[in-house]
Amino acid sequence: MFNYKILEDEMEALKNDGLLVNIRTIESPQGAWVVVNGKRALNLCSNNYLGFANDERLKKAAMKAVEEWGVGPGAVRTIAGTFKIHEELERTLAQFKGADATIFLQSGFLANQAAIPTVFGDENDAIISDELNHASIIDGVKLSKAKRYVYKHCDMNELEQRLKEARNVQNARRVLIITDGVFSMDGDIAPLPDIVNLAERYDAAVMVDDAHGEGVLGKSGRGIVDHFGLHGRVDMEIGTLSKAFGVLGGYIAGKETLIKYLKQKARPFLFSTGLTPADVAACLEAVMILQEGDERVRRLWDNANYFKGEMKKLGFDIGVSQTPITPVMLYDAKVSSQFSRELFEEGIFAQSIGYPTVPKGKARIRVMISAVHTKSDLDFALEKFEKIGKKLGMI
Ligand SMILES: *Cc1c(COP(=O)(O)O)cnc(C)c1O
Repeated sequence: MFNYKILEDEMEALKNDGLLVNIRTIESPQGAWVVVNGKRALNLCSNNYLGFANDERLKKAAMKAVEEWGVGPGAVRTIAGTFKIHEELERTLAQFKGADATIFLQSGFLANQAAIPTVFGDENDAIISDELNHASIIDGVKLSKAKRYVYKHCDMNELEQRLKEARNVQNARRVLIITDGVFSMDGDIAPLPDIVNLAERYDAAVMVDDAHGEGVLGKSGRGIVDHFGLHGRVDMEIGTLSKAFGVLGGYIAGKETLIKYLKQKARPFLFSTGLTPADVAACLEAVMILQEGDERVRRLWDNANYFKGEMKKLGFDIGVSQTPITPVMLYDAKVSSQFSRELFEEGIFAQSIGYPTVPKGKARIRVMISAVHTKSDLDFALEKFEKIGKKLGMI
């Protein structure tokens, strides 16, 4: 029998360092306010940017799809599990993104596992990755035999150095640059136009993971490629439908040939069943709502700009965010988890985030602003942040 004491000791050590994750139980649908462990609290930590997670139109679409298609797809997509609505979603998303085609997977996490090793998996390939890229990218890279290069966060000089090494020293067969679009823990935006220019100069492909730009950046939330007007110049755009779109699922957008190839070869597509009809129909409805107008996206940005401006005035360090993600930097993991606990006592649900999700010594409360917050919700949050910030000597 395995000695489970080893695991207990490790978790005890995490607890002593303030790094043990406290998994809270939500007892209501997602929204501006949620019931957490029996207590009603202002929700400042979900990725429900646009309020779609409990939207009436999405719920109706999901229920209708259950009536029409049942609850499960019955097989993997390549054998007997591709319904008409799966294909409709792939077409609709491609149109929305201004891409040739998309392949839909079960999550953003799996979209990265599908995208990276399938085309850039050979030991003669090179993958060049930003040091702060998301864990699902790092794991996707681990599934490839390619030589790995890492560049300092958003440092274009280092990226160029790595490109030179891959091209001139390694003589790589294929080269892929990967970056998060919006960095999920800091809220800063990758310098995608510069990355694309370098890629074109060194004959490299570009992949951007737009999980936090989807529904947030670009016209009506069309994402980072639209934001920078780079249509047709990014090889793989990874998206998730679990954040701003409020549902579940991930996809890769790109050229027709690439998507066709991935449908033949990507292992998460071939060997794991696709999304349920309810998920697919709800995702489709979310895209349709965004195609109708940008009202929710505008409300999200108004809320974020207001909250971030007021937090700065209060004297908080909110890092380098350029998006609605607002990291309240507290650095010390113990202070950060105490801050989170005190906020919760005051009726605010905002989780502390520490190592390994962020580097050691960079603990923070990551505030996630949503279009469903009202101004009085935000004022309530500001008042509590001020009170606890002063009490703990942070402002
Ligand atoms: C959240 C996130 C993912 C994972 O998306 P899921 O759909 O939740 O699996 C992937 N990449 C980035 C950058 C993310 O922030």
